[in-house]
This record gives sequence, C-alpha cells and structure tokens, in this order.
Amino acid sequence: MTSIGGELQRWLAARSAERVHAHRQRERRPLRALDAVRVHDGDRELLNFSANDYLGLASHPELAAAMRSGVQPGAGASALVSGYRPEHRAFERELADFLERDSVLLCSSGYLANLAVATSLAGRGDQIVQDRLCHASLIDAARLSGADLSRYPHLDVGGLERQLGKDCDGQRLVVTDGIFSMDGDRAPLVPIHEAAAALNAWLVVDDAHGIGVTGPGGRGTVSEAGLGQDEVPVLVGTLGKAFGCSGAFVAGSRELVEHLVNEARTYIFTTALPPAMAAAASAALKRVREDQWRREKLAGLVRLFREQARSRGLELLESDTPIQPLLVGAADRALSVSAALRERGYLAVAIRPPTVPRGTARLRITLSSAHEPEQVEGLIEALEACLASP
Ligand SMILES: *Cc1c(COP(=O)(O)O)cnc(C)c1O
Repeated sequence: MTSIGGELQRWLAARSAERVHAHRQRERRPLRALDAVRVHDGDRELLNFSANDYLGLASHPELAAAMRSGVQPGAGASALVSGYRPEHRAFERELADFLERDSVLLCSSGYLANLAVATSLAGRGDQIVQDRLCHASLIDAARLSGADLSRYPHLDVGGLERQLGKDCDGQRLVVTDGIFSMDGDRAPLVPIHEAAAALNAWLVVDDAHGIGVTGPGGRGTVSEAGLGQDEVPVLVGTLGKAFGCSGAFVAGSRELVEHLVNEARTYIFTTALPPAMAAAASAALKRVREDQWRREKLAGLVRLFREQARSRGLELLESDTPIQPLLVGAADRALSVSAALRERGYLAVAIRPPTVPRGTARLRITLSSAHEPEQVEGLIEALEACLASP
C-alpha cells in the first residue's frame, strides 16, 4: 500500500518551511484572562493591548450572570429547525430598536453574516465593489457569491465611481467597513453613499469596530455620518468586539431579514447562536446603551495614546479610533518588537502579511475603556524603548 499520509506530511512540512522562511508562521498561545486587561500566558502576566473588547464588557459580571441564568448553552439545531429561542427574538428586537432599524437577524459570527449578505443579495452577473482593505470575510463573501468583484484603492471614492461605471446588467453592491480593522481609519460614508445612490447600487456597511464604540449613543459610524436605513439598507455588526460576546447580526428592513432567513445558506445551515450568548448580548447591549462613560473614557485614552506617541516620534497611522496601529514595516522586525514588548509585560501582537500588504507589518495596538491612563503611558515608554533597540 502506498502511504497517502506520508505524502501529506511531506507537503505540509514544505509549506511550513516556506512560511517560516517568510516570517509568516503563526502560533497560538493559550491566554488565561485575569481581569478585563490582564492575561497570563503560562510564563508571565501581560497587559493586553491586542483585544477588540473596546468597552471592557467581555469580563463584565452582568454578562456572566446572564449566561448562567438558566438559558441553555446550546441551541441544539439551526434557527429554522428548532434552534430559535425567545432569547434570540428578544435580543433581535432590542438591537433593532437600538440601531434604529426595522429588523435584525442574529448570525453565528460576523464572517458568516457577511457570507449571508453577499451570497443572498448577489450572484453571477452582478457586481460587488469593495474597498481594497475590506475585511477578509467580505472578500470571501464576494467570491463565494459568484458576482464580479472589483476592489478600489483604500478610501478612494473616485476609484469606487470608476469601478461602478463599468458595464453591468445585474445588481450592484457597494461594500465597505465602517472602521477598517487593521488600520483603524474610517470610510467616507457620505460620499460612498452618494456614489452608490447615483447608480442605484445597494450599500452594505460592516461596522464591526464602530457599533458600541462611536457615533451617537454608540450606534456606530453610519449613524455618526447622519445616514439611516434608507441610505445604508444593509448594516452588519459583530457581538465579538465592543459587545464582549460572540456572534453577529445583519440589520435592515423587515423584508431584508425575511429574505436572509429564507435564502442565506450560512444562516440556514448552521447551528443557531447559543441562547445563553443571546442573553449575554442583551446584558451587553444594556451596558452599551447606558454606559456612555465607557466611550468617553476610551476616547480620552485614544487621545492620550496619540499625543504621547507623537511627542516621542512613534509612527502612527491616521486613526482616531481605538485601533492604533504602529507601522514597523518588515515582518521579522514587527515580530521582534512584539517579543521585546512581551518581555516588558505588554501584549501587542504583530500583524503581518498576508493579513496586511507587504512591507506594512505593524503592531496592532487596541485600546479599551478598561485600560487606565498609567497603563497606556507605560505602554508608550515600553514601545519607545523596544523600537530604539535594533
Ligand atoms: C471581526 C470582523 C468580522 C468578523 O466577525 P466575527 O464575528 O469575529 O466573525 C467581520 N468584519 C469585520 C470588519 C471585522 O473586523
């Protein structure tokens, strides 16, 4: 018998060696959470500046209590079979009210929510136009839909208009992140809306990093831009970031949600979000709505970080959001700076190609309202020291 397993092992070893050579090998470390910002990696305690828990809600006792309140952990089936629970319905309604949308569909993750939207609204003969730095799930979603995908230079509305000007007999979808996940900058939503509206293209905004964090009452970048459901008929968000939970949603008209329920395969053919998670998300939404102080504190920390970084000549990207990437350039350098920070007790993960374009490896530093100003100042000092050594 010939050994197929041996062949596979040789192929895997070759691929692994290629990744190591290109400084693209990744590994996981189990991190024990000690509190909202401190983690332990088995060797040492670290201050975490690499989470998306922007409001410090992941460790909030009210969320933990909601998860233990007797609601089942597992839905036991997909939503259309028997997995849809009162907790799901209640949270969908609360969230629709908060986002000022008619309706909300809870999905198991943001990745799946984006696949649901693209594959059920577009197909062969249609066109999807995206910012070049859109999240990987939006790229994969467009590819899976079978529509013609074009990507315009980052934030370039002229580029978007040129792509939209191409012949297309089918439907057009314009897709953008509200806040870009690796750069922290914002999409120019009003001009993007105008460009889309001029050609009757439907606008999809993935506001994974905006909802809860920015905009009036934490309603996100779309609301901040003065746009509503008519201008942005498809709004996607995740519960894994500011909400400190897991899962995601699509918000829009009743008809949109009905369409997704019936046609989105990544909603239909997957187990419904854990009911206990929907209960926790309800508790998180209460904090998102009531705790304006978390957003104010976070905005203050962002200002502090930028002022201090600038005064020490650290190279930041243009961002006023909690995502504050520090551009390093080469992947191996980003890794060594990140390792040096770890020695000093700070977790700031290096983000390398292919997640970001070649030559733009960075430390993706993220701030949370659970951080204290002294911790941010400590990070800046450590960054300065680590970047100074070769
Ligand atoms: C994190 C993220 C997602 C994926 O959301 P998950 O719920 O983690 O799957 C989608 N879009 C953007 C812009 C994100 O940052």
